[in-house]
Amino acid sequence: MSMRDLDFKVVAETFQAMERISARTQLTLVLVKLFKDSPADVIDKTIYLIQGKLGPDWKSIPELGVGEKYLVKAISLAYRVSEDSVYKTFKAIGDLGEVAERLCRQARGKGPVGLASFMAETRRRLAVSRVYDTLLRIAYAEGEGSRDIKIKLTAGLLADAEPIEAKYLVRLIEGRLRVGVGDATILDALSIAYGGGAQARPIVERAYNLRSDLGMIAKILSSEGIEALYKITPKVGIPIRPMLAERGKEASEIINKVGGSAIVEYKYDGERAQIHKEGDKITIFSRRLENITFRYPDVVDLARSYLKAEEAIVEGEIVAYDPDTGELRPFQELMHRKRKYEIEKMVKEIPVKVYLFDILYKDGLDLTVKLLPERRRVLEETVIRTENWTIADYIKVSNPDELNKFFLEAISEGAEGVMVKAIHEDSIYTAGVRGWLWIKYKRDYRSEMIDTVDLVVVGAFYGKGKRGGKLSSLLMAAYDPKTDTFKTVCKMATGFTDEELDKMNEILKPHILKHKHPRVDSRMKPDVWIEPVYVAEVLGAELTLSPVHSCGLDRVREGVGISIRFPRFIRWRDDKRPEDATTEDEIVDMYLRQLKRIEEEPATEQT
Ligand code: ATP
Repeated sequence: MSMRDLDFKVVAETFQAMERISARTQLTLVLVKLFKDSPADVIDKTIYLIQGKLGPDWKSIPELGVGEKYLVKAISLAYRVSEDSVYKTFKAIGDLGEVAERLCRQARGKGPVGLASFMAETRRRLAVSRVYDTLLRIAYAEGEGSRDIKIKLTAGLLADAEPIEAKYLVRLIEGRLRVGVGDATILDALSIAYGGGAQARPIVERAYNLRSDLGMIAKILSSEGIEALYKITPKVGIPIRPMLAERGKEASEIINKVGGSAIVEYKYDGERAQIHKEGDKITIFSRRLENITFRYPDVVDLARSYLKAEEAIVEGEIVAYDPDTGELRPFQELMHRKRKYEIEKMVKEIPVKVYLFDILYKDGLDLTVKLLPERRRVLEETVIRTENWTIADYIKVSNPDELNKFFLEAISEGAEGVMVKAIHEDSIYTAGVRGWLWIKYKRDYRSEMIDTVDLVVVGAFYGKGKRGGKLSSLLMAAYDPKTDTFKTVCKMATGFTDEELDKMNEILKPHILKHKHPRVDSRMKPDVWIEPVYVAEVLGAELTLSPVHSCGLDRVREGVGISIRFPRFIRWRDDKRPEDATTEDEIVDMYLRQLKRIEEEPATEQT
């Protein structure tokens, strides 16, 4: 049976349409059409390309490694023009994609003489599978001779491309599509295209939460239908999207929320790890599902030796400790394990302990549908504890006093606070969902100061004076998962050192957009729009009503949103995707709670 393919031109035209769109509903419709046009055989590849990727991030597919220089060479080869003239056109237009488009059109237009006519005759239509497979070969080409291979393969695609295809091929390869479609939008579009409508969304989403690979989910859905998605269970080697916690402010409220009694664990300040065991093969995924196995060879050894299962998926927190005193160290210490070449040294200098807190799968059994007490029981059966490989400390509580006592104990032991976890009859593992089954109760929530929030950069403003000409304040937004949009909450200009400011200008530059990104909802117009990719941790003084921001609009008062006063940059949160930012609901919630607190306080405080 022959494979059915899709013309790459359809994808290129979709990119073009997406560039002009500034409303998310339209974006979804364009994707629905694309997905319907795409045969099941290649829908996975279509989806990866639309996201400017070659697969889900956790597959750690190498970068293409084709920079500007190689691209210029490839363009020159494909269209028989000198590299010099490619550069000249590049200087004049400023966009390599458009350069390729123009030179491609010129090469086609040369009429039926010489090489151009030869090319016209031998040209094959570009199909999605060929583009995808070729890009994959480019990515995996390494070592001696890989430079020529990368250039030749790129030139081969360009030679067969039509002008519009050439433009988006180049942008794809450069990683500069700037149309950034979020997972949520793709899930919406898939539900409409193949699930029969929006009502299919929860099923599609659940499947995606358990098997974090949009291409794979799309393929199953389009070839076998929605019924097949009901049957999806976790699989070792494929990361499960993590279950997330809501924030609690006060012990009695928390106890109420979890239904009267709960398991309370230390909240360790480390890095979340989802550890997969498949025989002897161990894979570790981060909070954002990146493969971080190489950073923790010590944890790999522990998992290999001390899990009593052929196959298992467990979750825990990896925490650094001081080998001299045994004391736990803050999360920042783990950052030393980022550099590949120093790992062995760091394993000795910054040893880690693993505190496991959940088990999601064991030897064919899907445990995500089991209740927490059952999962804890299986976890305890499965884990052989050693000094550096253990289960999170916990107690069972059924009133606020017990909770507070344990909370104080946790803090005095150097934990960040506690995690309160429901044990009632609905306490399953809700992959990918932030809900009240888990509640984080941290030190800072008790103080006057609001907690830090994680916000997404969606725009920027140029500075004045010493900072003239540089982007020096950022328009920051919270995430709204219901509409998959980013809604602004503040303009942030403090907290950066001069050095950080320079670095920020550098990293933001490739993400500057000509118009507002379709997933951004803003009432304010910044000097430049920025593609929502970067997340920063922000500390503010207080939350106030605001007529200029879109976050929380109409939620507290008609026509008014919520903003953060005196926001200050704390640090970049590269471990978070924009969709992991603080949500609009959380901001509204924080605002309402702060309000309550002010009302409750004796009036004498304020003069
Ligand atoms: P998140 O979006 O994951 O809530 P965050 O960094 O803003 O991210 P935190 O306030 O740090 O959230 O709280 C949640 C994180 O706490 C978890 O993702 C996990 O890494 C960590 N954690 C520490 N101890 C535990 C525990 N016992 N159970 C669950 N998570 C824990």
